[in-house]
Amino acid sequence: MTKTFHSHWSDVLEGTWRWPNFSPAEIACRGTGKLLVNETALDRKQALRDWLEKPLIVRSAYRSPEHNRAGGGATRSKHLDGAAFDIAMANHDPLAFEAAAREVGFLGFGFYPGSGFIHVDIGPARQWGERFPVREMAFAAETPPAREVLADSRTMKGVAQQEW
Ligand SMILES: [Zn+2]
Repeated sequence: MTKTFHSHWSDVLEGTWRWPNFSPAEIACRGTGKLLVNETALDRKQALRDWLEKPLIVRSAYRSPEHNRAGGGATRSKHLDGAAFDIAMANHDPLAFEAAAREVGFLGFGFYPGSGFIHVDIGPARQWGERFPVREMAFAAETPPAREVLADSRTMKGVAQQEW
């Protein structure tokens, strides 16, 4: 497992960063700008991004020890190793996200429905927190036909488009 430390994310040499959907700044410690490039973790994160074909909004990735302490993070947090990511669920179905993350090799899962993100890390396998409540619109198998019916009705057309 290759890991490379940079005292600031802007020190990453152009051409050495090979994860097209993330920038060093996104992965760096939000408190100090320090960055530990954990290649195994970033490879899985890129694989997850490719699988889902949706942006992964990073709330927190690498944390320097001083920033982790200041924020009250666990002393053995996988964030200290650059091996963990907290990803916002604003643009994901949490169940689909979890399934895809397991598929690409993430092993540790922390669920934070109150704060709207899921923590994933590269192991060991474990999980904590309460699952996100199932969203009313999460499974919409019957919705497309209903939409067609509404769209066909002149009186309902505006309503259907607004509420979709
Ligand atoms: Zn986390």
